[in-house]
Amino acid sequence: MKLPSEVSFIDLHTHSLKEESDVFQIVNLFPEQMDQLFNNKNPFSAYSIGWHPWYLKRNQIEVTMEMISRVSTNDAIVAIGECGLDLLCDPTIPLQLTVFKEHALIAEVVKKPLIIHCVRAFNELIRLKKEIMPSVPWIIHGFNANLTIGKELIRHGFYFSLGKALLDETSNAAKLLPEMATDHLFLETDDSDKSIETIYRQAALLTKVDVEELRKRMVANYYTSFNIR
Ligand SMILES: [Zn+2]
Repeated sequence: MKLPSEVSFIDLHTHSLKEESDVFQIVNLFPEQMDQLFNNKNPFSAYSIGWHPWYLKRNQIEVTMEMISRVSTNDAIVAIGECGLDLLCDPTIPLQLTVFKEHALIAEVVKKPLIIHCVRAFNELIRLKKEIMPSVPWIIHGFNANLTIGKELIRHGFYFSLGKALLDETSNAAKLLPEMATDHLFLETDDSDKSIETIYRQAALLTKVDVEELRKRMVANYYTSFNIR
């Protein structure tokens, strides 16, 4: 999906569509929120669809993944996810791995980036990236784990979408940001009530580029990473 020409900021990952006319928002949908996709009249929004690791149920794998696969070709769906691995939630690791891999394969088929939620399972995530060798960007959203892991993920070619953690200058996300190439960076609000503009301003401060320049880079990243012609 092309960006509307009036767009100023891109919010890579949010859970609710906000009333901001110049922000292109990628609204995350859980499978049960699919209806929103067909009711979308907002040219400033697109969607990602995925099954969050917190909510996995073994007896629903087939029907849920089939549904995600079916809508994944829809033009309003620009990314697959959020999906991922989370060692702090109840669903078992084998179940999480199975479902994550299915998302990754759908992303390959439809050539759309994967938006990843990862908590304490970064080594597993790196292993999976080596195994699957994806052709689409794997974007870790909301990253705020330690710097050593962050640098390891950069080395393995992951993309990042950073958000509210940047507002705390002592956070890991804020420390990692200057270490990464901005062509692998996106910015997001996720479930925060901060505006995406606030996040951009803070990221500009931390990377020492001005907001306008950062804004242009994020637009360029969108076009290259999201396979838009
Ligand atoms: Zn989220």
